[in-house]
Amino acid sequence: MTVRLRFAPSPTGRLHLGNIRTALVNWLFARKSSGELLLRIDDTDAERSKPEHAAAIEADLTWLGLAWDQFARQSDRMARYADIVSSLNAAGRLYPCFESPEELELKRKLALSRGRPPIYDRTALKLSAAEIDELIAQGIAPAWRFKLAPGAIKWHDLIRGDVHFEAEHLSDPVLVRPDGVPVYMLASVVDDLDFAVSHVIRGEDHVANTAVQIQLFEALGGPVPVFGHFSLIADASGEKLSKRAGASSIEDLRQDGVEPMAILSLLAKLGTSDSIDLRPDLATLVAEFDISRFGRNRPKLDMAELDLLNARLMHALPYQHVAKRLPPGSGEDFWLAVRANLTRVSDADEWWQVVTGPVTPLIDEPEFIAAAAALLPSGPFDATTWSAWTNAVKGATGRKGKDLFLPLRRALTGRGHGPELAALLPLIGREQALQRLGS
Ligand code: GLU
Repeated sequence: MTVRLRFAPSPTGRLHLGNIRTALVNWLFARKSSGELLLRIDDTDAERSKPEHAAAIEADLTWLGLAWDQFARQSDRMARYADIVSSLNAAGRLYPCFESPEELELKRKLALSRGRPPIYDRTALKLSAAEIDELIAQGIAPAWRFKLAPGAIKWHDLIRGDVHFEAEHLSDPVLVRPDGVPVYMLASVVDDLDFAVSHVIRGEDHVANTAVQIQLFEALGGPVPVFGHFSLIADASGEKLSKRAGASSIEDLRQDGVEPMAILSLLAKLGTSDSIDLRPDLATLVAEFDISRFGRNRPKLDMAELDLLNARLMHALPYQHVAKRLPPGSGEDFWLAVRANLTRVSDADEWWQVVTGPVTPLIDEPEFIAAAAALLPSGPFDATTWSAWTNAVKGATGRKGKDLFLPLRRALTGRGHGPELAALLPLIGREQALQRLGS
């Protein structure tokens, strides 16, 4: 049997870290099992789905390096879903419901106020054929619900272990809207069967859907896939990720200069018993992947951790990977000089400004700086210039350590900290250095 997974986003907005985690875990599972990954665009809801969001999803996954083997779009498969609806209807598993959304909402509130679970009360099942004909003649279009079979629904979840629902505690799900459009609940099962999906790995917000969908798989005579539901990510304060806190879109993060491997290193391990550290590539994440390492606790997403991983990534990032994103005129020497001081590639702009000027020198002891300026070696500067110069200044003034280096740094760069001056000084050059030292 081919192991086949799917990532099935609804194109109703940009992908955020929570979606990417789902995509990544499915991708890693597929690669680890030498299986395949289907990218499925869940766009049956035409009002909320936008083609530009679907295109952005593909672009985001591509940027992250998460390639898929197969592609499907639910809106292309409406005829197939209509066939399945007919067969479920013929098998007596669907029934028409005529309640308005307001009526249903009222019933829900009433049930809750009486301390009962807010499940659909199956009123529509009591309608006679004549009553149904009458309602349809009045022009009221029904929604079609799937009649759940009574009894226990059980599965062994790869992350949650044994899960058990009683069908009596679930609402019969609507499978077809009054306007005739089949909904996600059905389309997803039809697709999982038609594309031979063997494993469905998704967030715990789908656990109740799984119970319903298992009955649908059975009603359609297909094999039930293996399921795994991981805990959703919480923000640093333990709340569900919201747009505000930490749910930045991948597009925002990319624009902000966060690198794919920083994001992937974090998301692959969040909620697992493994330590979070920068990993060099996806192949390493595949080698380390094991679904059984995911726990049931809700993992917290700390954006500072993402910054830390990104900074660590900068330290080893080769020039070729960033050349196009660096300030015009800068080269490999510059990148190697500054990369250990960056959190994001765009932070390099500030240091390029320090190299090329203008810089406002910070000079607290003009006499010392003048003495140092007089000892500046003659050009051209290279990697040895800084130590030759500071040794000479040390010999002449008796200063050492911070007392020696910090005033020189403040004068040359206008800042109290930054990249190694041994590497920066040759880039600044003799003429500019003299200018900044006030000579
Ligand atoms: N389109 C659904 C979602 O975005 C897919 C859920 C699933 O994996 O079945 O939540």
